[in-house]
Amino acid sequence: MAEQKMAEQRKIKRKANQKKPTAKPRRRLEQRFLPKTTSTGWALLGIGMLGALALGAGVFGQWVQDPPVDYAVYLIAAGAAGLAAALWFGELSATPVRVGDAGIALEKGAELVRFGWCDIENVSIEKDQLFVKTAESSFAIPVAAHPQAIAWLLKEGVQRVPDVVNVKRRDLAQLPKPEASAGEELQVEGLQVAGRRCKQSDKLISFEEDARLCPNCCEVYHRLHVPKDCATCKQTLGTRAITP
Ligand SMILES: [Zn+2]
Repeated sequence: MAEQKMAEQRKIKRKANQKKPTAKPRRRLEQRFLPKTTSTGWALLGIGMLGALALGAGVFGQWVQDPPVDYAVYLIAAGAAGLAAALWFGELSATPVRVGDAGIALEKGAELVRFGWCDIENVSIEKDQLFVKTAESSFAIPVAAHPQAIAWLLKEGVQRVPDVVNVKRRDLAQLPKPEASAGEELQVEGLQVAGRRCKQSDKLISFEEDARLCPNCCEVYHRLHVPKDCATCKQTLGTRAITP
């Protein structure tokens, strides 16, 4: 009897000693990676400059020269195509990339385009590019321009949402080890959850304050419908859910 009582007392003591979850919001962090200038980058710059030159010469030949030069039209077309291609591919390889608690973010000029881990459906490497597919869009990051961002993305992706990472061992071999000093550590900001639907109840999240997030995969829930385990990444959720 006495033994049972003692055991019970120990249990109560243990419970009292258990730490309550702190009210302080957890800092969410991400790493920001600047693109490397690659040989492709320089080649694109060359194509872009040639394109601009051809375009200029073509315009001169077609509209300024009298009579117009025969091949001016072709110069304009080729020049415009070269310039457009350089701008298009150049932009993709020159975009700073962020990887961290909020998923992946691409810096497009002043705009920050975010893709939460929970929204990613597939990650693969094909022909020196990392392809990321979400339900609504997909994008590619050149390995040569962003070796560290991709190494980090795969490391975190495998830990957080292993089911969607489909990268072959052979492709991993060409990547460096993720280095802590490779990126710039930033606090996650600009995370928008209003307008999304609760994964559990399908309820529309109208106010930021009503949202709760899975700290692992960023899945969004209404504060009254947070499940015991995250519906997306299956990790324990409940009181671990965080405010945006
Ligand atoms: Zn989750």
